Amino acid sequence: MLGNRLAELLSGSEFHDVRTVLYPGSFDPLTNGHLDVIERAARLFDRVIVAVAQNAEKNPLFTPEERCALVVGATRRLRNVQVRAFDGLLVNYVRGCGAQAVIRGLRAVSDFEFEFQMALMNRKLDERVETIFMMPKDTYTFLSSRLVKEIARHGGEVRPFVPTNVGRALAAKFGSASSKSQTT
Ligand code: ADP
Repeated sequence: MLGNRLAELLSGSEFHDVRTVLYPGSFDPLTNGHLDVIERAARLFDRVIVAVAQNAEKNPLFTPEERCALVVGATRRLRNVQVRAFDGLLVNYVRGCGAQAVIRGLRAVSDFEFEFQMALMNRKLDERVETIFMMPKDTYTFLSSRLVKEIARHGGEVRPFVPTNVGRALAAKFGSASSKSQTT
């Protein structure tokens, strides 16, 4: 028993547990701000599960399947990122996935109050679930899915704000000429 423990300590295997975090959200659609947070999390953790909420908004532009497919397309090069649709109580889903923590993005002080409330409520529901806040690159702090949809709806240029596949999907929804001209 003691021998096994000693061998474990010497090999460092006790540090080899897979660290999994869940990044939940509506992702309607994924923006470069979301992607920036995913990339940062993927560098810190062994496995990042992007959990696309099915019931997040009453009237989403994209179906849960479309939103998942867009995240899959944009994160393909990140080997330790998985994408799943989820429904129901977040804390239950976190434990079910074998994740230790939830990632949320903080753009500005305005995000803080709601996120703080949600993090503490989740902790009340299950104190083992930690919430980790990550800040995107400063150029993405003004970005939101809602604004991107508004711009695309009115035919504006969304290319600087979203991954290429999302730009194409927005163009298909709204028939925006600027987004249609993307080639990759
Ligand atoms: P939700 O409906 O859960 O807020 P969102 O898709 O809008 O879903 O956001 C998911 C998470 O990503 C939230 O923590 C949100 O604060 C964060 N987020 C949204 N936009 C950005 C951005 N531009 N930069 C960093 N984090 C962001």
